[in-house]
Amino acid sequence: MLAEWVERLLSYASGALEAIRADETFPAFMQWAHAEGVNYVGGDEALAVALAPVLWSQTPLVRLNFARESLAPPNRNEPCWCDSGRKYKQCCDKVQLPPIPDHLMWMLSLREFKGEQLKAALASALAPAQALLEAGLISAEAGSRGRAQQIMESLFDTSDWSRLPEQAEPGFELLLDLYQERGFTRKKALLLDEVLERGPAFLRGVALEHQCLLHLDSDDLGSARAAFIRAQQTLPDSPTLAYIEAMLLLHEGQPEEAQDRARFWWRRLAKQKDIEPGQLEFLADLAENPRATLAEQMVNSDESLSDSLASLQALFEVLTRPPRLALETQEDGSLLFGQNAEQAVTLGLWEAVFPARIEEEAALALDIDPWETQDPNDWLQQLCACPEWLDTPAVCQG
Ligand SMILES: [Zn+2]
Repeated sequence: MLAEWVERLLSYASGALEAIRADETFPAFMQWAHAEGVNYVGGDEALAVALAPVLWSQTPLVRLNFARESLAPPNRNEPCWCDSGRKYKQCCDKVQLPPIPDHLMWMLSLREFKGEQLKAALASALAPAQALLEAGLISAEAGSRGRAQQIMESLFDTSDWSRLPEQAEPGFELLLDLYQERGFTRKKALLLDEVLERGPAFLRGVALEHQCLLHLDSDDLGSARAAFIRAQQTLPDSPTLAYIEAMLLLHEGQPEEAQDRARFWWRRLAKQKDIEPGQLEFLADLAENPRATLAEQMVNSDESLSDSLASLQALFEVLTRPPRLALETQEDGSLLFGQNAEQAVTLGLWEAVFPARIEEEAALALDIDPWETQDPNDWLQQLCACPEWLDTPAVCQG
């Protein structure tokens, strides 16, 4: 019953929004409700007309810089706001309206606004948090990742955390994932710092988990361990911690401990009622063989790369030992490696397909992140096609 109502309301509201945008005046919109709105609610004109002032009142108007022109319902004996000429109590007041979320028209508007208008609407800071959250999640689901990021950034505007409702947590995870996928690692790190310093308590556990993974990415094991311990204090029962701890222990060179801890997490989380079967299965695999399970998860995490990564993995398994390197012993006993002509040619071929250049000081020891370029498949496939390139040290360094 409620689901049917929600569907009807959504379809009516989408039509209403289009009608309002046409000229943004109430009388014109009321005409639409009489003439066309009825078609969205199964011909029920009383309902179509009663809905109109309610939705109008919550719609952000472009001509008012996204403020709303809220109408107060008339008194019972006053003329109805739908202009029927009857008293309110004998007209729209008699129509029983099922629940209407008060952020609905803002949410739909955020899905419609484009470019500069979307930017201005977000900058107005008038959008209700719930509207931002829903519009962001819907955009991400529809594959509009840029729009989703823009909307979520507005929700997690770090100048005022007090507006943020607790239900915003999935939005926070979404924004962090969007930053990660789209290569905004610096923005991600800044947001995490901000949340940990000044953000609301309900976001801190998730922030610590993500910070721990960021430290692992940059091989800062001490900070990763510290973030993990804090995350565990904040969110003792988070299944994500099991995965992070296994990663951490493997990075720390303790595979047996990783296995022990995965077993511990499996026993602990198996008792929880709300845990998903898929998560438990993952933990069981982790306890069985942490290294293989995590490697497989990484290969699967980016679907568009999984074929290329799987061929590279297969390649490593069959690869023969590389030829010995020509090293010269220096006077002080240290070894010096000089690149021969053939290796120089190989390096040239490699550099033609690989977008990044070695830069010792940078985070990955590369000037740019090769995984964030247009399509890492290009260079991955080239590498799989020419495995002999891996005999050249400078290629491996990349
Ligand atoms: Zn009326």
